[in-house]
Amino acid sequence: MKLETLLIHSGADVDPSTGAVAPPIHLSTIFEHAPDNSEPLHDHLYIRESNPTQSRLEEALTAAEGGAAALFFASGLGASAAVLQSLPSGSHVVLPRDVYHGVRKIGHEFVPRWGGSVTAVDMTDLDAVRAALTPDTRLIWAETPSNPLLRIVDLVALAEIAHDHGARLVVDNTFATPILQRPLELGADIVMHSTTKYMGGHSDVLGGALVLKERASSYDELFEVRSVLGAAGSPFNAWLVLRGLRSMACRVERHASNALAVAKALADHPALEAVYYPGLPEHPGHDIARRQMSAYGGMLSLSVRGGREQAVAVASRVRIFTNATSLGGVESLIEHRASSEGPTSTTPQNLLRVSIGLEHVDDLKADLLQALEG
Ligand SMILES: *Cc1c(COP(=O)(O)O)cnc(C)c1O
Repeated sequence: MKLETLLIHSGADVDPSTGAVAPPIHLSTIFEHAPDNSEPLHDHLYIRESNPTQSRLEEALTAAEGGAAALFFASGLGASAAVLQSLPSGSHVVLPRDVYHGVRKIGHEFVPRWGGSVTAVDMTDLDAVRAALTPDTRLIWAETPSNPLLRIVDLVALAEIAHDHGARLVVDNTFATPILQRPLELGADIVMHSTTKYMGGHSDVLGGALVLKERASSYDELFEVRSVLGAAGSPFNAWLVLRGLRSMACRVERHASNALAVAKALADHPALEAVYYPGLPEHPGHDIARRQMSAYGGMLSLSVRGGREQAVAVASRVRIFTNATSLGGVESLIEHRASSEGPTSTTPQNLLRVSIGLEHVDDLKADLLQALEG
């Protein structure tokens, strides 16, 4: 079956007790034991471990990424932390320099507390990745396109480097979604998603997910981390993400075509130093993106001529866009990224991050052009 069909029909069995076609939300925290307590009577015991609504979502997430198993979490960062918490003590991790700022924080502030170590490298430079490996390296963490510079890294090459070293490759596929990029098919072992973004799709639900290429590789460890450290998502959030997955293919195609048109319209604008969008031929990762993505996604960043003040002023002049953080919802957003990331930010002060929504592309282009005119 094709992906569009899988996204609509996975985890979609008609409810056997009522015939309901739309999935029920089961809020029960507890499930009946077998009389002799030998096994769960109905697959579930306690909500922090598993529940029926979450199981439906995990079936759909598994199908979406073409994996063997999936785990839903309370947030994207909960899912990311679980990967790092599941490593043996003493493990070394290679992170990209341009990476979601929360993942950078977990890597640099928390992994050392858990007895591990981290090296951050420019992951577009494969020699730098090889040079960062140590005998304790267990994991390479990649994010492509990256947040917020839209860097592209070569997943086939990174998977080979990781596997030659006996390490695993984890890919944050939040920006691309499985519609545009298939990390497990390119060699990754685990895919991470902030389902808060394109999967939920409407800026109204927090969640995260891990999808594993092979169940044997780390499912039990990750399941244990999620349930014992308490990063489980709620059934209502699982239900909203499942609902979002149903329309994701259509939405993401439009996000990507709108973003390409906006990027082209702004590419030579005199008020901008650069437009970072992997779909533009001058983007340094364009050739790799063309190989490993089917379109270039709905995110772009603008570096505004001048500095912080000029960038903040542009974001304050938009009328259709909203000046707000996050991404992947139906509405277009723009934000001064360094302000959102706070004092530890490494993002250039003149950078605006833009999430292109599903409004008519002519309105989006016109709004950004008037905001840049000042
Ligand atoms: C938002 C985001 C995260 C973190 O996810 P939350 O759901 O906010 O915890 C991780 N990676 C990327 C690329 C993101 O955009």
